[in-house]
Amino acid sequence: MTDSLIPGAHIPPPATPVDPKRLPNIHRLLLDHYGHPNPRAPWTPLRQFVYSLLSARTKTPVSHQVMRDLEGGFGVGPSGADWEAVRDAPLAEIEQIIQIVTFPEKKAPHLKLALQQITARYGSLTLDFLANYRTAKIRAWLETFEGVGPEISAAVVNLSTLRRRALVLDSHHLRIVHRLGLTPRADARRTEQLLMRMVPEGWGPEMLDEHHSLFELHGQALCTFADPHCPECPLLRLCRHGQRVLSEPPERPQFPNI
Ligand code: SF4
Repeated sequence: MTDSLIPGAHIPPPATPVDPKRLPNIHRLLLDHYGHPNPRAPWTPLRQFVYSLLSARTKTPVSHQVMRDLEGGFGVGPSGADWEAVRDAPLAEIEQIIQIVTFPEKKAPHLKLALQQITARYGSLTLDFLANYRTAKIRAWLETFEGVGPEISAAVVNLSTLRRRALVLDSHHLRIVHRLGLTPRADARRTEQLLMRMVPEGWGPEMLDEHHSLFELHGQALCTFADPHCPECPLLRLCRHGQRVLSEPPERPQFPNI
């Protein structure tokens, strides 16, 4: 049985049949263009949670640098065994060390509070116990923390050692999905629900991870926010937005009134 993504969220059947080949076609075209993304060595759920909380709207190299700074500065091992030092550090110290991410003044208190609340609720600072729960329950629980939405809960269940089925929709992925016209414009939660109807049953967690990574790569390389390179895009023939943009006549040069 497949867990529903969000408990209590009733998803009505689609008005029109979903083309089962649509996502696999897109996946194959991206794979042909970019090759396989670097294989992931999944992190502990807690380490992935911290990374995802800090990395929202922040470039990937910056997020990795902040993790190195945070783990080096507070003596946290890659096993995630010693996040207590971050939890117990003064807020100003955490904010200082993560200052290169976007909104450090919001993320620092969210991080400290979440680490405190995990300890209070579970009795120790770990998220390994989540492996005993169903995916929907884990995601609902994670989303009770301040600053945690569907993108972060999906990342923890899909990308960490929990390795469950979920689709991480960061800003790149969301933008490209909407440009392609795969779903109506909607927030990440609704878009994930709609996309999961299109995902083949046979796609396991690793395949969903690869799918997300390909969209992330595409959003960084060609389908950028401000300047999508549609003529070079492997998805152009499937993309409403790209075809519309390329069919529009070029802007006429503006001449000064003389
Ligand atoms: S055709 Fe353009 S808008 Fe469409 S996915 Fe490619 S780069 Fe993005």
